Amino acid sequence: MSSAKLIVVSAPSGCGKGTILAKAFENRDVYFSISCTTRKPRKGEVDGKSYFFISQEEFDRMIKDNEFLEYAKYNKNSYGTPKIPVFEHLARGTDAILEIETEGAFKVKKAFPDAVLLFILPPHLTDLLRRLQKRGTETNEVILERFSHAQGEIKKAYRYDYVIMNDDLDEAVKDFLTVVDSVRNEDGRAYAFSTKNDEIVKMIEGVLINA
Ligand code: 5GP
Repeated sequence: MSSAKLIVVSAPSGCGKGTILAKAFENRDVYFSISCTTRKPRKGEVDGKSYFFISQEEFDRMIKDNEFLEYAKYNKNSYGTPKIPVFEHLARGTDAILEIETEGAFKVKKAFPDAVLLFILPPHLTDLLRRLQKRGTETNEVILERFSHAQGEIKKAYRYDYVIMNDDLDEAVKDFLTVVDSVRNEDGRAYAFSTKNDEIVKMIEGVLINA
């Protein structure tokens, strides 16, 4: 059996997840899963790199042919993780990272209990709203929808294995790598970020209370 890890990372959109992951793994050999989505590309997104941008018909065909590891709806669009590349990399001993929303994360955990579920919290919900507005790629309606979805997602952070907070990018990258390395080495350092740890539960409560 390969000891490679399947690492599932979720965060409310606008939380800096992409930046943390890119920095954390810039010099590491990991596989970043590329999802399929029926959402239209945003400015700057490249097909086959950011996502595979596909039609709903093609998405439905992939479901039918059992090509997804998991899939879910988010803001009226479909998103799914192609199964084969993830399995191939894990079999070769390469860790695989899935950046997916909560519903998909729980499906992965159910099918693969060894998967590590990690949630990235924003320090404040108001800060998150500001970041979404600053991005300037969406209408106000979409921003508000994403914001209310984000609140719902944070409530689910309790069900993740580990939670880190992105209040400082370098710290968040360090914390993220502590969890990943500790889980791989089974050295117990990840407990500081575990949802079995009361401090982490209080941290999640703090973000929700300060909405
Ligand atoms: P966005 O439209 O902002 O790129 O992504 C919206 C949400 O969909 C994010 O939370 C992102 O992590 C999630 N997502 C991206 N790919 C997948 C996927 O393959 N499966 C699931 N379940 N969620 C995904």
